[in-house]
Amino acid sequence: MAKSAFIKQTDLQKNGIDSVDSNTLFLESGIVDEIYLVSCKKNSHVLDKIHDLFGVNKNQLKSKCLYCGRTYQEEHTEKVYTLSSLGKKMLTGSKWMTIWLTNLLIRNGIPLNPSFGAYQMQERK
Ligand SMILES: [Zn+2]
Repeated sequence: MAKSAFIKQTDLQKNGIDSVDSNTLFLESGIVDEIYLVSCKKNSHVLDKIHDLFGVNKNQLKSKCLYCGRTYQEEHTEKVYTLSSLGKKMLTGSKWMTIWLTNLLIRNGIPLNPSFGAYQMQERK
């Protein structure tokens, strides 16, 4: 399994984010994925990640842990948040900054004129 960065729901609470609802914007925008990690109860090694715990293939939960022999269903499962492929794409080349700045300018009534190529600001008269 490829390694990926994630944060546990309990760690979010330690960072002052006391509700998953406060992450809804990130989840709905597709920037962050909510997944479940299956880890061994004996040694805490991460065994697998499951995107939809309730829609999961039942055979996946019957898989046996390599360390203790329990089924994945018997092991520890924890909800975590990770950057989605869209989120990773947004961070590449600072695309988020271009989108954020463009949105900020438009929301504050600063006109943009795309006819000059790369969105130059129109002169106000
Ligand atoms: Zn185990």
